[in-house]
Amino acid sequence: MMEYQLTLPTILRRAETLFGKKEIVSRLPDKSIHRYTYYDFAIRTKKLSVALHRLGTGQGDRVATLCWNHYQHLEAYFAIPCMGVIIHPLNIRLSPDDLGYIVNHAEDKIIIVDEVLLPLFEKFKHTIKVSKVIVIPNGGKQIPEEYLNYEDLVASGDDSLFEPFEGDEYSAAFMCYTSGTTGKPKGILYSHRSIMLHVMSFLLSCTGAGINEGDVMLPVVPMFHASAWGFPYSCTFVGTTQVFPGPFLDAESILQLFENEKITLTAGVPTVMMSILNALENEPAKYKLFLRLIILGGSAVPRFLAKSFDENFGIKVLHSWGMTEMSPLGSTSVMTSKLQKASKDEQYDHIAKQGLPVPFVEIRGRNEFGFIPWDGLTMGELEVRGPWICSSYYKGEETTEEKFTQDGWLKTGDIVTISEDGFIEIKDRSKDVIKSGGEWISSVALENSLMGHPSILEAAVIAIPDDKWIERPFAYVVLKEGKNFSAADLNEFLATRFAKFWIPDGYHVIDAIPKTSVGKFLKSALREKFLNEHK
Ligand code: ADP
Repeated sequence: MMEYQLTLPTILRRAETLFGKKEIVSRLPDKSIHRYTYYDFAIRTKKLSVALHRLGTGQGDRVATLCWNHYQHLEAYFAIPCMGVIIHPLNIRLSPDDLGYIVNHAEDKIIIVDEVLLPLFEKFKHTIKVSKVIVIPNGGKQIPEEYLNYEDLVASGDDSLFEPFEGDEYSAAFMCYTSGTTGKPKGILYSHRSIMLHVMSFLLSCTGAGINEGDVMLPVVPMFHASAWGFPYSCTFVGTTQVFPGPFLDAESILQLFENEKITLTAGVPTVMMSILNALENEPAKYKLFLRLIILGGSAVPRFLAKSFDENFGIKVLHSWGMTEMSPLGSTSVMTSKLQKASKDEQYDHIAKQGLPVPFVEIRGRNEFGFIPWDGLTMGELEVRGPWICSSYYKGEETTEEKFTQDGWLKTGDIVTISEDGFIEIKDRSKDVIKSGGEWISSVALENSLMGHPSILEAAVIAIPDDKWIERPFAYVVLKEGKNFSAADLNEFLATRFAKFWIPDGYHVIDAIPKTSVGKFLKSALREKFLNEHK
């Protein structure tokens, strides 16, 4: 066989030569729409790469981005790794302190910042040492002289001088920090090879996503959250039309884009899609939608969400599970031939589970007695391995030891059951587990049920201390507009689904569940809240 390194320029070349006329669309901060072709994208990307090279970046250096989802961010996604440099998207929802810590920890050399995010950048710029700051002029103001203008830089590059990186496929291409739900953010390096294999696996029809050239994809998931789950690379490889929402992630703005751009495929965390579903249910006839599939992940997908999108709007939901450490894809709720013949109810039950590991991801579960049987009942911590699963954290020797088994599998920290057919169901994150009188209670299952109640918009269940049972479940709930709260009604509702000892000891109605920077329920804040209020 030929020696052919799996490196990202393959994707860029294919996009330019085969899909040159396909479009990339972005909503800009002034709300205008920018459109250009894959061909224009490829040329500008090469120009940027050449210009960055001239600025002195070389193989192994890191270039950070502090950007919303838009076409210039996509250019950076390719220009940087395609020259052998590492792109490092920063989570714009982190605190300035955390951002400063991450840039220093990653030793980023250059940073590319959206003009509209300069106020955030300026809060931590004095704490970091980068050699150049490049500003994407999307705020309509004069760029301060101390910074380089991204557009001038692109214009100065000569694309004929572009040198695609075709070195060792194991070289790092992408850097990502965990969102820090359960501790300080930890850095992970993805290689060219790991990204290419992740793309290949994701594109296989057996994952259920079935992304193709005819799709129009809008990633609501930010490009700083685990590489937008790999969509920018997968979509560019197959020539999918890509639509980027810029800073406007409210339900109304997203729904407008869904309609205007005839979006067929979208992806994001369940909390965002819940607000979209809510807006749709309030005015069902307002939008004409073309969506065929919504890919949800990052936290558990409540069953009612899949059911409502399907029954009321004819849109399918694919549930995916993953971790930043896994590039991030691990499993999807693909409908196997057996499930396609099942009743709708069974299918919705299935979509609420995390599903089958995608090709190349191997799974096993372990508890205090050893590896768990695949019986769909026994719980244990999920361990995984595969070609896009990290084997260590960047400069994190101690955490690395904690998170990996001696034979090299990643300990996910997720407590699961695995069915006979190999389907994963996450019962809890190990840090959120409720152990009551020695028995595990799944907070995720309780939340999913509560969110299926007609009065409840959001629900998060935590463990609270108990003298007799050590821990008991307690639920924080957010009511739907105009609905009333009744603990007795909720208890009765849950009693039809769960054993008596699973029923929460109490409920507290709040205005909103606190969320992490990527939209997951922040249960540590609720645990603190409970303890403060019950001292
Ligand atoms: P962080 O660890 O900072 O939250 P990640 O986005 O990498 O950042 O989080 C990975 C974790 O998110 C998983 O280990 C799991 O606990 C949770 N998660 C991701 N997808 C799902 C899902 N579909 N269902 C339940 N939990 C999920």
